[in-house]
Amino acid sequence: MSEFTLKTRLLAALKGEEVDKVPVCSVTQTGIVELMDVVGAPWPESHTDAELMAKLALANHELSGLEAVRVPYCLTVLVEAMGCEINMGTKNRQPSVTGHPYPKSLDDAAIPEDLLQRGRIPAVLEAIKIIREKVGPDVPIIGGMEGPITVASDLASVKSFMKWSIKKPELFEQVLDLATEASVIYANAMVEAGADVISVADPVASPDLMSPDSFKQYLQSRLQKFSSEVNSVTILHICGNVNPVIDYMADCGFEGLSVEEKIGDVKKAKEVIGDRARLVGNISSPFTLLPGPVDKIITEGKQAIADGIDVLAPGCGIAPMTPLENVKALVAARNEYYA
Ligand SMILES: [Zn+2]
Repeated sequence: MSEFTLKTRLLAALKGEEVDKVPVCSVTQTGIVELMDVVGAPWPESHTDAELMAKLALANHELSGLEAVRVPYCLTVLVEAMGCEINMGTKNRQPSVTGHPYPKSLDDAAIPEDLLQRGRIPAVLEAIKIIREKVGPDVPIIGGMEGPITVASDLASVKSFMKWSIKKPELFEQVLDLATEASVIYANAMVEAGADVISVADPVASPDLMSPDSFKQYLQSRLQKFSSEVNSVTILHICGNVNPVIDYMADCGFEGLSVEEKIGDVKKAKEVIGDRARLVGNISSPFTLLPGPVDKIITEGKQAIADGIDVLAPGCGIAPMTPLENVKALVAARNEYYA
């Protein structure tokens, strides 16, 4: 018998404490069409309805073996509450931001007093409570959300955000601060509702969009503020090849850094990070988990553990058309490694 529960094992692994085996879960989105059909909780309805949101999240723990329950399935809940317009997507396409509240100036920009009552935030908080009720205290719940840099970019529009980063540093810093403050409030509301881990996906912080110098000069302090003010273990997910900024990411105060297969070498990334953070990932969502086959997923999963990954997980959000069988194979990879 293990001395660990799923929750204590994941938290210990993320803190860098000794564990009996590497946990396997997804810190990025978990909604897949196959499970939507099995449990009757399709997108886009399950982005809005707390019961359906909880049902779909639970399915990709109970039916796949992933060792955490994660909600919600998009990066638009907070920014919608902050004034962005959202297209809710389809059964196999995630919601996206279609309108931005502050593309020209931040003159009337503020965090709404009733932020936590706006948009789909109440549904996410309710879903977390429903999940806790269903799984009990020993299964970890991961609250997912857009990271502060992505929130800032959504408030201003990517175009203005990039322009301000070069030509209007005061506006750039102001929107980053506003976004960080709002992100902390929302994250702590999820923790209050029962989330054990907050996992932020911050694609706009990727070296694909922002230079490593900007990351160091402007983004790092906001991410540090976020991780220090959120009352739980935190994970930072940044898409793409993050090798140019992974050293800076490790100084942001997050227990876990979630990365894609694009970093190439897990061992080298672990060397750079040292004991500042733990590495989560990095099995390719589009190129391994989606197409399979199962054998490849198992081989890559076992290799990632051999290379020192601290939490075995998809490298980015699970593609909605991914077969359940392939998600199960990720769990099998971990089990076979220790068999
Ligand atoms: Zn990603």
